[in-house]
Amino acid sequence: MKSVKSVYMMTDLEGVAGVDDWDPRHTDYANEAKGVYERSEMQRLLTGEVNAAAEGLFKAGVEEVLINDAHGAGRTILPEELIPGVRIARGRNRPNWLLGISRRFDALVQVGMHAMGYTPNACLAHSMSRGIRYRANGREIGEMGMAACLAGQLGIPWVFTSGDLHACRESETWAPGIVTAPVKEGLSDLCAVHLPPADARNLIRERVQEAVQKAGQIAPVTIQGPVVIEVQREEPWPAKLREGAERIDAFTVRYTGKHFWQAFHHATYGKPDLPLPE
Ligand SMILES: [Zn+2]
Repeated sequence: MKSVKSVYMMTDLEGVAGVDDWDPRHTDYANEAKGVYERSEMQRLLTGEVNAAAEGLFKAGVEEVLINDAHGAGRTILPEELIPGVRIARGRNRPNWLLGISRRFDALVQVGMHAMGYTPNACLAHSMSRGIRYRANGREIGEMGMAACLAGQLGIPWVFTSGDLHACRESETWAPGIVTAPVKEGLSDLCAVHLPPADARNLIRERVQEAVQKAGQIAPVTIQGPVVIEVQREEPWPAKLREGAERIDAFTVRYTGKHFWQAFHHATYGKPDLPLPE
């Protein structure tokens, strides 16, 4: 069995222990003391979990860890606080969603994950934005599933999730055998029972090592092409749609691609022909 040397780490903010409200960057107090304080606290909590995962990976013998700072802001992890030895892909105007991904990675891990939009009781559940649902070839899919299908298309298995218990359960429906670290249990959209950060980080550090050991037994997540992605909003779509989009009804549009990588980047980035990474 091939050992796991290179790991791609997808990260998000809303599944982190201690976070149960939206990133205040869009609120009208974002630039005032309270907003800045709240955001920096969320950033520290996220960075702590990312570090714990990286520590566990290195302890398990992994040599390369590339972290994708993938929360919508594009710049949420605090680089100065990262442990040595990792690399971080961050920023805006991304050429694709999984910055720096390539076939050389042996496993995908996801840290700070929230459940897909409309999951009952899940904390901060959403799919890319609030008030929107995605389906891929008829199956409802959230952000974790999307990242897993993109990586899976390159042959990379999704082996670990930390986050809301509801997100951990969702991950098990996509990747049987995946190892999870539930660091909080959502009770509503804005409410959860949390582990304190020290316990959350210990759990992540331990479980991610277990995931590395099991990686060879977990199959990459794949969706057979051609792939149709439907995007359903609560508000009607505007009269003018993105090129290549097909309107199903007032609330739903559809994108078709040869495979998931293409259909996804068509639907979310307006890039229908984005080539697969090497
Ligand atoms: Zn998210």
